[in-house]
Amino acid sequence: MTDASAPPGATPHHAVIVVGGGQAGLSMSWHLQQRGIDHLVLEKERALHVWETQRWDNFCLVTPNWQCDLPGHPYAGPEPEGFMKKEEILAWLAGFRAKVNPPIREGVEVLKVAPRAEGGYAVATSAGAFTADQVVVCSGGYREPIVPRLAERLPETILQVQSADYRNAGQLPDGAVLVVGSGQSGAQIAEDLHLEGRKVFLAVGHAPRCARFYRGRDVVAWLAEMGYYEMPVERHPLREGVRDNTNHYVTGRDGGRDIDLRRFALEGMELFGALRGFDRGSLVFDTNLGRALDDADGTYNGINAAIDAFIEERGIAAPPPSRYEPVWQPAAERERLDLAEAGIGSIVWCIGFRPDFGWLDVPVFNGAGRPQHRRGVTQQKGVYFLGLPWLNTWGSGRFEAVGRDAGFLAERIAEGLAERLADTGNGVRTTPRGHAA
Ligand SMILES: Cc1cc2nc3c(=O)[nH]c(=O)nc-3n(C[C@H](O)[C@H](O)[C@H](O)COP(=O)(O)OP(=O)(O)OC[C@H]3O[C@@H](n4cnc5c(N)ncnc54)[C@H](O)[C@@H]3O)c2cc1C
Repeated sequence: MTDASAPPGATPHHAVIVVGGGQAGLSMSWHLQQRGIDHLVLEKERALHVWETQRWDNFCLVTPNWQCDLPGHPYAGPEPEGFMKKEEILAWLAGFRAKVNPPIREGVEVLKVAPRAEGGYAVATSAGAFTADQVVVCSGGYREPIVPRLAERLPETILQVQSADYRNAGQLPDGAVLVVGSGQSGAQIAEDLHLEGRKVFLAVGHAPRCARFYRGRDVVAWLAEMGYYEMPVERHPLREGVRDNTNHYVTGRDGGRDIDLRRFALEGMELFGALRGFDRGSLVFDTNLGRALDDADGTYNGINAAIDAFIEERGIAAPPPSRYEPVWQPAAERERLDLAEAGIGSIVWCIGFRPDFGWLDVPVFNGAGRPQHRRGVTQQKGVYFLGLPWLNTWGSGRFEAVGRDAGFLAERIAEGLAERLADTGNGVRTTPRGHAA
């Protein structure tokens, strides 16, 4: 599968090694194949597995189907305005994999990537050593679930699961459930449990929210027309800070709707501020619930106001504007909740994920361990990132723009290989579909 002229037993070499076989890795493979560039994708589990192994049963996309635009495989189903459910996503992705037909080794974990003195990279894996001229990191922005250390102090009788491991209400013991975090996963999991009739306590964080539909269209459709999804990180008011933003909560469930935590409160869900600690049998919360709800609604109304301005400026015919008015207010900020008295039997942690680049031994990180790059291109020759949130635009970490980013990187990779060929006068091999010979 590698250089046919290499002596037996030699370390297999590829022009490009792609680490990770999710949608980013496979998009990269598609574009490398278009250019006939030899490469190998290394995936520690199964290609695209996260959509099966790390999503709950009732999961459906938050982004509309028309935004599912993987290279060579745009959504072509009957409901472009709809939101695919888990099984539909898996079927669509299986079609993508079949189309890409990547040169991939599954069940192979990359343990270390380090520069070689003679140029290129040494890639140590669970299946032995490889070398590569260039490496594309597609290992995902949502790898390691974040769980606070206070989790270790909670009673052993409480079942704790992370959002990636949550499947359905039936998996949790009887009794009330505490959901910690109100980002996209937390808000949707709290809703899932609430709809199943479970008593839910929700620790509300600082996530913003947005409307699903406004003035006759999906808010995403308005934002697309307003050019928001074309805006690169350099033009965003927060610049690179936007990469740390929590996603807006809203859902695609049942054809799409808002998630209004205040309405849930009216229906019996108990809302608290952010979880701060655990003390003598009680959970301790920040007294910031009112502020968190107001801020989320402020973002909701702010986005709608921007849509109003756009409609007015363009003279677009649309249903009249409206403003969200709170349907519920917390009577008082509650700081403590006795775990036993509340009957809480389980906790679902939904406070996010962090990437895991511990295996990448190259100088591309800042002091806080974040990769430094421009549109995925690092200052370390031959090392690229793909698939991270806001790598370049809003859609970089989503189905919407990962393909576009992969196309951009494929150009840079081709240039890099040409340079390396000029430097060394050898080494770059391509085959018709880019599969290693
Ligand atoms: C709960 C949730 C909901 C989302 N909803 C949407 C949505 O509605 N619409 C949308 O467009 N996007 C959504 N996203 C965002 C995005 O589409 C997904 O996070 C997607 O999985 C990112 O794809 P990826 O290929 O970049 O990373 P991943 O899918 O995480 O793939 C990375 C791959 O790399 C492998 N890997 C990691 N480390 C190594 C290693 N050392 N060696 C070998 N292999 C390795 C992993 O096993 C994995 O298969 C959602 C994300 C989450 C978490």
